[in-house]
Amino acid sequence: MTAIVLDGRALAATIEDSLRAEVETFADMFKRRPRLVVVLVGDMAASASYVKSKAAAAARVGIDADVVRVPATTDTGSLVALVQSLARDEQGPADGILVQLPLPEHVDTLAVLDAVPPDRDVDGFHPENAGLLSQGRPRFVPCTAAGVQRMLIDAGIETAGRHAVIIGRSDIVGKPLALLLAAKGTGGDATVTLCHSRSADLPTITRSADILVAAVGRPGLVTADMVRPGAAVIDVGINRVDGRLVGDVDFESVRKVAGWISPVPGGVGPLTVAMLISNTLLAAELRHAP
Ligand code: NDP
Repeated sequence: MTAIVLDGRALAATIEDSLRAEVETFADMFKRRPRLVVVLVGDMAASASYVKSKAAAAARVGIDADVVRVPATTDTGSLVALVQSLARDEQGPADGILVQLPLPEHVDTLAVLDAVPPDRDVDGFHPENAGLLSQGRPRFVPCTAAGVQRMLIDAGIETAGRHAVIIGRSDIVGKPLALLLAAKGTGGDATVTLCHSRSADLPTITRSADILVAAVGRPGLVTADMVRPGAAVIDVGINRVDGRLVGDVDFESVRKVAGWISPVPGGVGPLTVAMLISNTLLAAELRHAP
């Protein structure tokens, strides 16, 4: 068997096309464009590159995006104050506010993320948005988790009644994805197993997966012998090996066993960005909602 390769770039382009039309409707109605503000702390190359692609995607659909850069030495209090000042719209309406992670080690990341008002939290990391998601009434869903679910739905991969195994339990990927796949409705109703570094006998668990998601950050973690023939394998991992971007899945061996596989790059990454843009438009619309 050779797996169908899930083309995240093509799906992201389709999503952008429909968002572009919705943004124009918003702009006609409210005489302004939705606006995203991204806070970039320090000069880590990977973070700068992610921020660049987010701003570029916003521009492609007609959303204004501004990047506020501050030095890596900025302390927690100053970052909290910056986020609070952005939320006062002093530099123009900030419908979506995003703080690019990771923050430098001396910064209290949760304190900074908690300062983002929940109605502008387009990353979906605020406890209020996490709580809404866990109660099955999502507002801003964390972008990568939303992107994985969208990818499954678009490819016609059934989730209802299937066993979804997620490796990685972070607040930004694994946990929200587990909630989405276990929720009632389209792209949900799965039986979900959430694995992590203390899970015993990972291969036995993953071999029982109809849908296997790797969100760890370890190149080559998922090998062909860990995959049930015909399963859908979604690779969230982003790792740099010898200057090349690779995921957590050993793509060449796993593609011979799986039914579907998402590549890195060109899989989940572009969908994460598309979901961020979608959340930004939603934030702008909710602001004007009666
Ligand atoms: P974290 O480091 O926060 O979480 C990693 C998770 O993997 C933890 O739950 C950890 O377990 C688990 N883990 C570590 N080693 C193993 C192992 N040997 N076996 C099983 N589980 C293990 O990472 P993130 O969730 O932030 O990101 C995960 C990956 O996804 C990274 O490569 C990141 O770059 C990428 N990413 C990609 C995005 C995209 O758009 N494509 C967006 C966001 C992230 P424990 O909890 O026990 O420590």
